[in-house]
Amino acid sequence: EEYLLKVDKVQTVFKTGKGEITSVEEVSFQLKPGQTIGIVGESGCGKSVTSLSIMRLLGKHGYVKNGSILFNGKDLAKISEAEMREIRGNEISMIFQEPMTSLNPVFTIGNQMMEGIRLHMKLGKKEARNYAIEMLNSVGIPRSEAIMNEFPHALSGGMRQRVMIAMALSCRPRLLIADEPTTALDVTIQAQILELMKKLRSQSNTAIILITHDLGVVAEMVDKIIVMYAGQVVEEADVFTLFDNPKHPYTKGLIGSIPHIETHQEDRLISIPGAVPSLQNMPTGCRFHTRCEFATERCLQEQPNLIQLDETGEHKVRCWLAEEEAYVSRENKEVFV
Ligand code: SF4
Ligand code: MG
Repeated sequence: EEYLLKVDKVQTVFKTGKGEITSVEEVSFQLKPGQTIGIVGESGCGKSVTSLSIMRLLGKHGYVKNGSILFNGKDLAKISEAEMREIRGNEISMIFQEPMTSLNPVFTIGNQMMEGIRLHMKLGKKEARNYAIEMLNSVGIPRSEAIMNEFPHALSGGMRQRVMIAMALSCRPRLLIADEPTTALDVTIQAQILELMKKLRSQSNTAIILITHDLGVVAEMVDKIIVMYAGQVVEEADVFTLFDNPKHPYTKGLIGSIPHIETHQEDRLISIPGAVPSLQNMPTGCRFHTRCEFATERCLQEQPNLIQLDETGEHKVRCWLAEEEAYVSRENKEVFV
């Protein structure tokens, strides 16, 4: 089957006064039309930089140094800025954690929605207005005609996020990138927004990249998950395999830290001891070794590769321990071959 997006061994770097710093390294994944992938990890793991690399919104100091980002066969890392502008907000849309940063406070909701619609859908003023109202209705905004005349600050956080989703989807993108779309919202609104994204996905076959630090959020929403740590993919699997049979100690830690429904918001933070290493000061060997209870001498010296664990190649992991276990079970013909 054809891929909509094929990210292959992407390395993204930022230029600093002290030279280049690698923010993500060898990130690869594929996405078919209508598929949803979750990118999970703590803040600073490179999940946002991965999505900004796809959008090519890395600022003037960041760029994709190696690898390719094939979208519909075009390499987004190589096409001109003019071509990229055509794709951005049209074929690929993005929603962020805090809608206030992407909504302009001095323009009404209607103005902002219609601007994008007129630009990308080539509609006249009246049609654009009707279409904007229709989009606001479709994301469950009540009194949407009146909301058109409101300024962003007059709306609640949940309403603003709905407006952002309506804007992002109004040009019927083939790919939607949602970076922590529900993190700032309370649990009930979170659930509604995720429901809404599911509905829109099934209506329009939009592929979605859902970026979050919360594995619980992606569980019921995505087809597959990639787990990132310190700028690298450390595990990739379909959602059932990842929860049933996680192989990387970090993934196991993330799953262990998913709270039960009844726990309070403040307990929802990831609770793996230690912190993500800084980009300027990456540990040698496995980047997780400073926090891993299974680390051996080899882990301190040699960097593990991302290897395939099953015949289909759908389950991948970057860990010496998992690799050795897989090797042993393969020898015993327990896993595959
Ligand atoms: Fe832990 Fe070693 Fe695996 Fe890294 S390679 S996650 S340190 S066991
Ligand atoms: Mg982020």
